This record gives sequence, C-alpha cells and structure tokens, in this order.
Amino acid sequence: MNRISIILLVLVSLGFSGCKGTNTDRQENQSVSDANAGQNVPKRTDLIKALIVDGQNNHEVWPKSTIMMKQYLEETGLFEVDIHRTRYTWNAKREADYLPLAGVGETTDLENPQSDPDFSPAFEKYDVVISNFGWKAANWPEITQKAFEKYIADGGGFVSVHAADNSFPDWLEYNRMIGLGGWGDRTEKDGPYVYYTNEVELIRDSSPGSSGAHGPSHSFPITVREKDHPITRGMPEVWLTTKDECYAKLRGPAENMTILATGKDISGNAPTDRHEPMLMVIDYDKGRIFHTTLGHDDYSIESVGFIVSFVRGAEWAATGEVTIPVPADFPSADKSTSRPFELNPKRP
Ligand SMILES: [Zn+2]
Repeated sequence: MNRISIILLVLVSLGFSGCKGTNTDRQENQSVSDANAGQNVPKRTDLIKALIVDGQNNHEVWPKSTIMMKQYLEETGLFEVDIHRTRYTWNAKREADYLPLAGVGETTDLENPQSDPDFSPAFEKYDVVISNFGWKAANWPEITQKAFEKYIADGGGFVSVHAADNSFPDWLEYNRMIGLGGWGDRTEKDGPYVYYTNEVELIRDSSPGSSGAHGPSHSFPITVREKDHPITRGMPEVWLTTKDECYAKLRGPAENMTILATGKDISGNAPTDRHEPMLMVIDYDKGRIFHTTLGHDDYSIESVGFIVSFVRGAEWAATGEVTIPVPADFPSADKSTSRPFELNPKRP
C-alpha cells in the first residue's frame, strides 16, 4: 500500500467515524426531546413503585388486608403495587379467597411458619416496601435480610403495619428500622419503653419488663404529637380509630425515631395508663420508615384514619413528601369514620 492510499484510507476512516458520531448525537437529541415532550403527561413509569411483602402472620386477615392496602394505594393514583409472598404461608385459610388476587402463584399453607429459602424480593426495584408479616413469622434468609438492610440504608422506604412490629425479634437491624417492637421475648435487653404521660411528657423508660400488650379492640382516641410532619399535617389534633387494638408497652432501640401520634386505651381494661406510640417515623441511614401500630382486622383497616395515615405514610417513606390530602370524611375527636371495603372490579 503506497503513502497516498494510506492517507486516503485514514481520511475515509475519519469521515466515516465523524458521520457515525453525528448520527449518535441526533439519536441522543431525539431521546432528550422525547423525554421533554412527555414531561407533563403522567406515565406509568412516574408512579411510586410499592411492594407489599407477606405470607406469615398471626392475624388471619392478612391475605385480605394485603389486597385492601394494595387497592388503597392504587386508588390514590400515585402508586403501582406488587406483592411478594413467601412460598410457605401461615394462617391463610380464613381469607383464602383473596390469595389468588395477589398474582403470586401457588403457595402452601403450613401449620407453623417455616422459612422460605427462596424468599428474595428485588427490593431495589421499589420506592417503598410494606410489611404485612406478623408475630412468629419465620426468619427471612440471611442474604435477604442483608439485601433489605442495604436497600433501606441506601435510601429505600419501609412501612411497618400493625403486627409487622412483632416480627423478627432477633434481627437487630430490623428492630433499629421499626424503632419499637412487641412480643417475641423482647425485654429491657432490646431497648426502652417509649411513651407520653398524661401530662404530655415524653418518656424513655429502661426499667426491666416484657414488651407488647393490648386491651380489647375498641374505638380509641389518637392524639397528634407532631402537627407539622407531612404525614400528620392537616389532621385534627385528636381523632378516633374504628375498633382496633391499642398496642402498649412496646420497646426497642428507638434511635432517630419521632412519635407522630399516640393512642390512649379507653376500653376500661388498658394495660397502661399512658399514651402509647401509634404512628412513628424513623431514619435509618438514608432510608425512611413509617411505622403504624394500627390495623388489627378488616374493620380496623377500613377506618378512614388508618387508610389516610397509611397511604400518606407510604408516600412519605417513598418520596419524603406527602401530596395526598386529608379527606372530608376523616374522623374527629368524637366521630369515628370508616369506608366499607369493596374490591375494585377494575383493579390492575
Ligand atoms: Zn392485632
């Protein structure tokens, strides 16, 4: 090959390469303008991605309450919701009709909770994870626990509902995420009791004692303690639950935890004479956790107070903000309100 041929070859190569570069630029510009054009049109990809995990709960309502919570989230228009379930379930019989609605395939209900070695949700695909596990749920595989810890520490969102704060007493990082827990042989070794006195004093009490108690289910008053938090902003200072359990004597690490609202058991058979934490938020590294102790059974979950605090808590855990308003039918200090649950026939 002579020198002129080499120069021509080099020029052709440069020209070809330059041309290729121009095409690439145009393609990139095209993608940018497509993205801009769609900016004001809500797209499915703009929805908050939520994952409900469940399968083992001492509360037999769980197959139904998972579907209820999924529907409440979707009805806001802000969320798309997936469900991930352990292959071995516990207490799935009472609400077995709701099992197929989760779209998770076949599961096997056992007499006792058993670990599912393949339970490994892709947490990182979601903006918020909601636990509908309960007391005595079998441990997740260690690799899944570690993946969940990393997901939350890196900025993920988590919502703990009712008996989810009974789960996993021996998993330290989980207990740091939920702040306070109950039952499962939790004692002073796990952290203080935290509560408000009748004189509005916030107490951290490290005295020895067991954890977790409640009186009979009844409608009881919730008192908002943090009026300016996005989750509670706009709620009346005091509002009533529907028939529900007022969890008491919870204890745990309670680090970086803010009590948004407390409950006072007025059943006449209260385990304590104090205002117990009901709605809490916890910072865990970059992650945000919303913890509600409410939601014992379907009639508790139909409470407008439960529904609204739950969907707002999930939005906050996912994004750090709340855009869902407090609705006109929100309960007041002397009126409990509920919305009888009906399956949405158009559910996705
Ligand atoms: Zn309960």
